[in-house]
This record gives sequence, C-alpha cells and structure tokens, in this order.
Amino acid sequence: MKSKVYFIPVSDTDAREAVKSKLKTLLYKSEVLRVVGKGDKVAAKIHFGEAGNTGYVDPEFAGIICREAKGKGGDVLLSDSNVLYKGRRTGASDHLKLAWEHGFTKDVTGVDIFIPDDTKQGETLEIAIGQKHIKTAKVGRFFAECDSMIVISHFKGHMLTGFGGTIKNVGMGCASRQGKLAQHNNFAPIVYPDNCIACGECVKICPVDALSLNGKISLDAAKCIGCANCVGVCPTFSLFVDLKDGAAVQEKMVEYAYALLRGKKNKAAFINFAIKINKECDCWGQENPGIAPDVGIFVSLDPVALDKASYEAVNRVCKKDIFKLAHPDQDGTIQLSYAEKIGLGSGDHELIEVR
Ligand code: SF4
Ligand code: SF4
Repeated sequence: MKSKVYFIPVSDTDAREAVKSKLKTLLYKSEVLRVVGKGDKVAAKIHFGEAGNTGYVDPEFAGIICREAKGKGGDVLLSDSNVLYKGRRTGASDHLKLAWEHGFTKDVTGVDIFIPDDTKQGETLEIAIGQKHIKTAKVGRFFAECDSMIVISHFKGHMLTGFGGTIKNVGMGCASRQGKLAQHNNFAPIVYPDNCIACGECVKICPVDALSLNGKISLDAAKCIGCANCVGVCPTFSLFVDLKDGAAVQEKMVEYAYALLRGKKNKAAFINFAIKINKECDCWGQENPGIAPDVGIFVSLDPVALDKASYEAVNRVCKKDIFKLAHPDQDGTIQLSYAEKIGLGSGDHELIEVR
C-alpha cells in the first residue's frame, strides 16, 4: 500500500498569517498528530538555526504544531541536539539561549525547550543496530525514549547530503556529538595544521591525549575516540569533519534515523516546510541564497515518502533538479533509496493536496 503524503501549497506572496492558517488546515485534514497519545512524552524535533541564519522553521509555525500536540494530551518539549562545530549550538546552555533569541520562547510555542547535554552521562544513549556502517548508534536519550515524536523540518539544499529534510533531521539531528562525528567519513577529525594558532584548547579538552602541540597541532588517529570535543573548541577551524564522499555520510545518517525510529511506527509524525528553500542547511552562520520559490508544507507518517514527495515537488516547480544543480558533487537521492532498502519507509507514495 502506498504511503500517504499530505501537502498544502504555499507561495512566496503568502503572509505569515495565511501560512499559519494553511498549516492548521493541513494538520486537521491529515490527522498526522494522532500519533500523540494522552500522557505521551513527546519530542518535537526541530533545528533552531545557527546564529546569523534565518532559514529555520518559523517559531510561530512550530507553536501551532506543539499546541496541537499538547491539546491531544502530550507532554511536549521542543528539542535539538548539540552540533560538532564551534558555534552557538555547540553546548546546551548557549544553544538554548540562541533558540530563545530566534523566537522559540514559551509564549510563542507554548512549550519548553530541552537540549540534551552530551557532557552529562544519562542524556545520551547507545543503540545497537548492526547495520552496514553503524553497529551502535550514539544518540540523545530523549529522542530514543520519548513515547511519540514530531519531526519538524526545513526542507533545503545541503553541501554533503544534496538536500536536507526529515531523514536528516532525525538521523543527524538526534545524534549526540559523538554520533555526528561517527556519521562523517573519518572517525578522527581532519586536521588543518596551517590554520593552528597553538592556543592549546583542543589539547586540554581531549580525553585520551590524542592531540599534541609542537608549534602546530598534530593528531594521533590511533588514539582518537571520535568524541568531537576538539572540533567544538577550536577557534580557527583547524580540526574539522571530512566533507568528502557524501554517499557514505547519507547511508550512515539513514542508519541513525533507523535506530531512532525503530519501534515508532505510527508514533512519529513528520512535517517538511518547503519554504525559504536555501542552498545550504540552517547550520550556516550566515544567510545563504535561495534556490527555489516557496512550494508548500508536507506531512506524513512515513519519513521516506515525505522526503521523496518534497524533493520531487520542489523539482517539479523548478522544472529541473535544483538540488543537484546547487550541489553537483552530491546525489541526495542516495538517502531515499538506502532508507527504503533498510526498511525506514517507502518511497512509493500518494500525494494528497489539501485546500
Ligand atoms: S575527537 Fe576527541 S579523542 Fe579525537 S582528538 Fe578530538 S578530542 Fe581527542
Ligand atoms: S584548538 Fe585549534 S588553534 Fe588551538 S591548538 Fe588546537 S588546533 Fe590549534
């Protein structure tokens, strides 16, 4: 049976109030929030946007979704995990402040925010999945153990995965910092010694003495446990994750999504906003160019069907594969075919337009 994807069109000229009204209609007619049961602990997974970026989902739209879920008796928290690179979202406390600055306050969304703290034992979790790349996924415990999940995603381009939607928001977005590093090609960070200003911060924070400073930084990959602490503290981006071979990263990301969504069939709803479709993800600390007009909002209980339908709809409006054009070295459809292959969902879908 085909997976159902519900869609409501949005255009660049729609005012925010019009989009809010459309979102309410879509939630009502699709009934996707039936996944939330009375008394459920609900993770509403979102990306709050890096400082300097405004591509993230409008907090008022998130508020509509969270209030609806609360109305069904869910105990809802908006949430995201910390990131690998140095920025306002590297640590839980700064991340929370940035979310508030971006408008995700309780008076707007109706719910509190929870950012799992990777440095606290008990807030992360390891899940054995025995997949091709990932044997054990390292994720935020809250995302894995919630009763139901609502994944609220901004659909846009991505330098490594071609495009980013629901699968990426779950797979990469719910991983701990260690899990994020494991999804990139090399377990140990890539080192750019020429950028190093010998501040020593990475050496101090490395838990296994894998880094040494002798004028410039060097890394003993055999000792490295891939915790990503050093990536987060380096002020000069001398330590970073490998951006080559997006195919492998996509497959690992899908395996992480599989780990997180296992056992959540009919307990997870997925919502893609194909609005303000930028070339790059919301982790960029600056504005980045739009590549397509606003297309609409998509919802489904199947993450693969949802991303596939969103991808095809944007390209249909643009009359070309706009994501491939923006990132010629990446084929974003790998995440869709691999997700189908390992049973995350089905690309075979019925697109139902709601008015
Ligand atoms: S990733 Fe962790 S273990 Fe590896 S060098 Fe950096 S701080 Fe050390
Ligand atoms: S944190 Fe960065 S700049 Fe400082 S010593 Fe380490 S690699 Fe060099």
